[in-house]
Amino acid sequence: MKTLWHAYKSTIYTHCTETGISRNSVPYWKNRLFAATVLFTIPLSFITLIPGIYMGYTLWLVGLLVSDLIAVLTILFVAFVPGISVFARKILFNLAMYQTSVVLLHYLGSNGPGLLYLLAITIFVLLSLDQWYGYLTFILNALVCIFFGAAIHYGFASHVLMGEYQLDAWIGVSSNLVFLSGIAVFLVPKLFDGLQASFEEQEDLQKELKESVENLNDKNQELEQFAYTISHDLKEPLRMVRSFMKLLKNKYSNKLDEKAHEYIHYAVDGAERMSINIDDLLEYSRIGRKYTTVEKTDLNHLLDEVLQNLQVDIKDKNAKITAAGLPVLPVVPVAVKMLFQNLISNGLKYQPKDNRPEIHITVEEQGETWKFSFSDNGIGINPKYHDQIFAVFKRLHTRNEYSGSGMGLAISKKIVEQHDGSIWVESRGNEGSTFSFTISKHYLKEKR
Ligand code: ADP
Repeated sequence: MKTLWHAYKSTIYTHCTETGISRNSVPYWKNRLFAATVLFTIPLSFITLIPGIYMGYTLWLVGLLVSDLIAVLTILFVAFVPGISVFARKILFNLAMYQTSVVLLHYLGSNGPGLLYLLAITIFVLLSLDQWYGYLTFILNALVCIFFGAAIHYGFASHVLMGEYQLDAWIGVSSNLVFLSGIAVFLVPKLFDGLQASFEEQEDLQKELKESVENLNDKNQELEQFAYTISHDLKEPLRMVRSFMKLLKNKYSNKLDEKAHEYIHYAVDGAERMSINIDDLLEYSRIGRKYTTVEKTDLNHLLDEVLQNLQVDIKDKNAKITAAGLPVLPVVPVAVKMLFQNLISNGLKYQPKDNRPEIHITVEEQGETWKFSFSDNGIGINPKYHDQIFAVFKRLHTRNEYSGSGMGLAISKKIVEQHDGSIWVESRGNEGSTFSFTISKHYLKEKR
């Protein structure tokens, strides 16, 4: 039954709508409205048109019989016969309805549904054709009313089924029909004008948005390329500073006093830190450019590798790291490994003195995403810094308190965004922290 309805619907929509018209346009929606009208008129014709045919036959009202037959056949023709333009279908449909309403006026008089049909046709015409055809319908309606008025006046509209026509009653009822169709003709197109204006506005906005995104992507790539080049270029003079400082220290060791040795140590240490910062920056600029190969990855294995890398630290601190059944997902493994390593090493590092680190990793499906959480029992983070810590080179501690460059979370954020997700932290300070991030299933599906 469902497939039958589907086939019926798709046939009508194929015949009664045009291809190649943008969804963001009034003509597209007018065609859809027309198709929907045809779609429902066919089953609904069993309520009135088909009984009309039966009544016309049993009472032998030839006009009613022929008119309802014409209406039904035309609607079927419009719906199912291929090779006719949509415009012609619209005209045929409305003409068929028009002749039905005139015949109904003749047989059922002012008490009957003829005038209602005229009003309905005005609306059909306005919904499916240009405003010009609405004016035409309005004039036709007025002419039909005048014609019937004249017919009543001159006495040849008297053999009706539902009581006699009376001129004053007719004028009262039909003038209201003309009034209402006039209102529809002027108001409905206003609605479409508003719709068209909003479509155009939306299209302009979409165009602007697309341009901005393209611009932003270009700028981002430029920036990444810039960071990459700069970091390469910066490392060379840095290497020179370091090696000449070492030469100075070795060659003039006995000529330099303690203060000079201390200054050389600071200079070498500074150069080394600068080198680490540059490496981190380089890594940061590479994410999304260099590491792009997506592979189906068992995240349990990936975690094992990370723990292997961190084993010295884990043993030193006697840390306890637990994880609850991680899934197999198509991700960029190098990047996700870096992400896991950053979060776990932070959990190990940011601990009160002599505390035994405990880190627990959980994962859950949440609607359109996978959500991962890394909870630790460390020093926690004051909520006012929760957003800032993901920025490049942002640190909350001096290097004497905790070592680091301030790039770990910036890199993590970029990796998560590469997987169409987001990252955040929850912590009330002193009670440990929970870093959570999501990976979009949409991204995963695309990359599968
Ligand atoms: P780094 O660790 O190299 O300083 P990150 O970008 O990884 O850089 O971290 C930024 C800051 O966020 C850190 O300086 C630290 O203050 C805070 N932080 C990160 N992870 C944790 C954690 N698990 N517990 C407490 N503070 C953290």
